[in-house]
Amino acid sequence: MTLLDDLRAAVGADQVLSGGDLSAWEVDWRRRYCGRALAVVRPGNTAEVAAVVRACVQHGASLVPQGGNTGLVGGSVPDDSGTQVLLSLSRLATIRAIDTDNLTITVDAGCVLQQVQQAAENHGLLYPLSLAAEGSASIGGTLATNAGGTQVLRYGTARELCLGLEVVTASGEVWNGLTGLRKDNTGYDLRDLFIGSEGTLGVITGATLKLYPQPAAVGTAMAAVPTLEAAVQLLGLARKRLAAGMTGFEVMNGQSLGLVRAHFPHWPQPLPPGPWTVLIEHSDFDSAEHAQTVFESLLETALSSGCIGDAVVAASLEQRAAMWRLREGIPMAQAEEGLNIKHDIALPVSRIAAFVHEAGARLSAVWPGIRIVNFGHLGDGNLHYNVQAPLGVSASEFLATQEAAVNAVVYDAVRTHGGSISAEHGIGALKRDLLAQTQSPVARQLMHAIKAALDPRGTMNPGRVL
Ligand code: FAD
Ligand code: ZN
Repeated sequence: MTLLDDLRAAVGADQVLSGGDLSAWEVDWRRRYCGRALAVVRPGNTAEVAAVVRACVQHGASLVPQGGNTGLVGGSVPDDSGTQVLLSLSRLATIRAIDTDNLTITVDAGCVLQQVQQAAENHGLLYPLSLAAEGSASIGGTLATNAGGTQVLRYGTARELCLGLEVVTASGEVWNGLTGLRKDNTGYDLRDLFIGSEGTLGVITGATLKLYPQPAAVGTAMAAVPTLEAAVQLLGLARKRLAAGMTGFEVMNGQSLGLVRAHFPHWPQPLPPGPWTVLIEHSDFDSAEHAQTVFESLLETALSSGCIGDAVVAASLEQRAAMWRLREGIPMAQAEEGLNIKHDIALPVSRIAAFVHEAGARLSAVWPGIRIVNFGHLGDGNLHYNVQAPLGVSASEFLATQEAAVNAVVYDAVRTHGGSISAEHGIGALKRDLLAQTQSPVARQLMHAIKAALDPRGTMNPGRVL
C-alpha cells in the first residue's frame, strides 16, 4: 500500500485531494510562501486525524496542519518538496458543548473563530478573542499560534483563554485533556506545551475555552495624540479610570491612516490627519449611561492635561464599526500600496517611544524617504512596525534587495530595548533563522529537547519554528 492508499483508507477517497489546483492550501495568505503538497487530506473527526498521522509515521512522511490558512509567518503551507501531507482541519467544525455555569465552551479545532464568538453570544456570553481574520481563522490555528488581537489587555491571548485541549500526538495517539478546570496542578503543563507550538509537536483537534459575560455597553473613541509619549500617558490614565473596563487600546501613526485614506477614500475618517491616533475601547458591565459618563470624563481629563488634541466618541454601532474598519484596514491598504517588510514586535510599554525614535532615525538615515507604517496594540506593547519602500522605488525590488538590512536595523533596536522579535504571529518559516540567531543557547537546547521528546521522527511540520 502506498501512503496515498493508506490516507484514502483513513479518511475516504473523496477527502484526499491530489493533483489539480490545490493553491488554496498551498499558498499562504501573504502569498510569500508557495509550496506543493503530496495531497490535501481532510479528516472528519479526531479518530481520522489520528489515522492520518499514523499513516504518515508508517511511511516516513511529514505533515503540515492547517486551519484557516491566515497565518502570517509561512507556517501553514507545505514546503516545495511535493512529499508533505497537508492536513486540513476545516471539517472538524462542531461546537461540542457549552457550560453556562462553568463559563466554558468545548469546540472542534476546525471551528472558525467567528462561529465560536457567535455560539457564545447566542447564550449571552462572550468569547473575547478578536482579530481581523476571525471570519476565516480556526480555533486550532489561533491556539497553535497563540494569537493575540485587539482585546488582549483585558482578556489575554489565546493561551490565557484556553483551559483544555485534545491533541493527536506525533505518534498518532489521542491525548484527551479537555478539562474545564481553572485550577489543575497535576505535573507538567501539557496544554501549554502545545499552545503556541505552531503544529510542530502535535495536532490540536479540540479545545475547551473560557467564556465571559457580555458587557452591557461598549464605548469606542478615536483620539488625536501629538506624540507616542502622550499616547503612553493616555494609556496610563485610561488604566486608572477604566480599570478592567478598558478592552482595547490601539495606536496608528499618520502614515498608516494616510495609506487607508489614499486607498479607501470612501471610508470617512473622523479626525484630520495627524502624527498619531489612538483607538480606545471601554466595555461597561453596568449600563450604557454609565459607560458614556466614565468614558467622557476620561477624555475630558485627557484633553485638559494635553495628552490628546481632539477626540470623537462613536455615537452608534455603525460609527464604532467604521472606527475599527480604519484600524483593521491598515494591512489591506498596505497590500494595495505594494509589498512591504513586516515586523510584529513586542516591547515594554515604557520603551516603545524610545524604540520608535531610534529605529525611525536609523532607517531614515540609510534609506531617505522610507515609509514606516506603524500601528498596533499599544496596550500590550505590541507594534506592527512595517516598512514600505520610499515613494518612487519599486516595492518588490526593495523587498528583494533590502529586507535583510532593514530587519537588521529593526531587530537590533528591538534587542536594545528589551523586546521580542515575535509578539503574536509566531515564528513559522519566516523567522526560524532569526530565532536561532537571537535565542540563548540554553533556551535553544531546551526547545530541541522538547521537540525530540514529543516528535522524535520529525513528522510534525518540520522546518518550522526550529
Ligand atoms: P493557519 O494559518 O492555518 O495555521 C497557522 C499555524 O498553526 C501553522 O503553523 C499551522 O501548522 C498551525 N496549525 C493550524 N491549525 C492547527 C491545529 N489544529 N493543530 C496544530 N497546529 C495547527 N494574529 C494575531 O495574533 N493577532 C491579530 O490581530 C491578527 N490579525 C490578523 C489579521 C489578518 C487579516 C490575518 C490574515 C491574520 C491575522 N493574524 C493575527 C494571524 C493569525 O496567526 C491568524 O489569523 C490565526 O491565529 C491563524 O489561524 P488559522 O486557522 O488561519 O491558522
Ligand atoms: Zn495584531
